[in-house]
Amino acid sequence: MGAAGSKLEKALGDQFPEGERYFGLENFGNTCYCNSVLQALYFCVPFREQLLEYYSSNKNGVDAEDNLLTCLADLFTQISSQKKKTGVIAPKRFVQRLKKQNELFRSYMHQDAHEFLNFLLNELVDILEKEAQAAKNDAETSSPSEKTANGPKNPQANGVKKEPLVTWVHKNFQGILTNETRCLRCETVTARDETFFDLSLDIEQNSSITSCLKNFSSTETLNAEDKFFCDKCCSLQEAQKRMKIKKPPHILVIHLKRFKYIEQLGRYKKLSYRVVFPLELKLSNTVEDADLEYSLFAVVVHVGSGPNHGHYVSLVKSHSHWLFFDDENVEMIDESAVQTFFGSAQEFSSNTDHGYILFYESLGAGNKS
Ligand SMILES: [Zn+2]
Repeated sequence: MGAAGSKLEKALGDQFPEGERYFGLENFGNTCYCNSVLQALYFCVPFREQLLEYYSSNKNGVDAEDNLLTCLADLFTQISSQKKKTGVIAPKRFVQRLKKQNELFRSYMHQDAHEFLNFLLNELVDILEKEAQAAKNDAETSSPSEKTANGPKNPQANGVKKEPLVTWVHKNFQGILTNETRCLRCETVTARDETFFDLSLDIEQNSSITSCLKNFSSTETLNAEDKFFCDKCCSLQEAQKRMKIKKPPHILVIHLKRFKYIEQLGRYKKLSYRVVFPLELKLSNTVEDADLEYSLFAVVVHVGSGPNHGHYVSLVKSHSHWLFFDDENVEMIDESAVQTFFGSAQEFSSNTDHGYILFYESLGAGNKS
């Protein structure tokens, strides 16, 4: 590992970014789904900085109990405070905690990186909300608050909470979608908002993220068994529905639905479709008219031909160069190599490495075109 480290250092030479650390993560038996997502999150700089800040201001807490948030913060702190610039770290505590917490991730079977990312972000939010609630209770009663750590999950349905707490996880990843339904009998438009941490997009052969996003926001007609209950008509009616992005997130995470259930086969199949993801993305299906510009900084890649086996690696942009993380190994890659992960234009191709989760950071509003 020393040799690999020095190879990367040599490749970067005096371009090695000041204060940055490039560490591979040890694999504990099929934990590449976890490693690949952790690297993408580590190089999500605003998220990393806020996590490190959270950790340094909370580590002196008396009743600091291990949870996924503290384990993640501890891992990121370990990486960022290494004396060496490159090497390998074992995310043992984090993986142990993850397996303890969720039986889904306990087996040695191949896991889904997107499911893991989703679980992790929701878990971090839960922990931060409980901490904020406990702090509030402490302040209100000034008596020791009741421990709610192992209590039941918030039983309230989505959107019922009076004042949803906005944590730094929300500030980074949360966006709001609005689902507009127009009744075709009375023309009443009903808008329902829902929050998201990532967008899951259906994909088509030889397409692009822009076209997938366009399909995502295209108008759909609800009819036949799928009619819409219109409150004004007080009955089921045909309606037109469309999804738009009401509040774009700072970090836009796009999940490509490459694993599709094929009814005739009775199982999931991996779609190796070619879906072009640009380095700079313009988001145009928003409620506001202005195009928003995003820049790609990480890609979680699924390697393999099927959904139940395979491997995950990640591509990460740090400062102005691209790195390839494959568990313990870290290498520099050329920016042009990113396009080799778009997918295959032919159904049977020897290329089985495909972009699966994309991470874009907002650059703000662009020029209206
Ligand atoms: Zn109606």
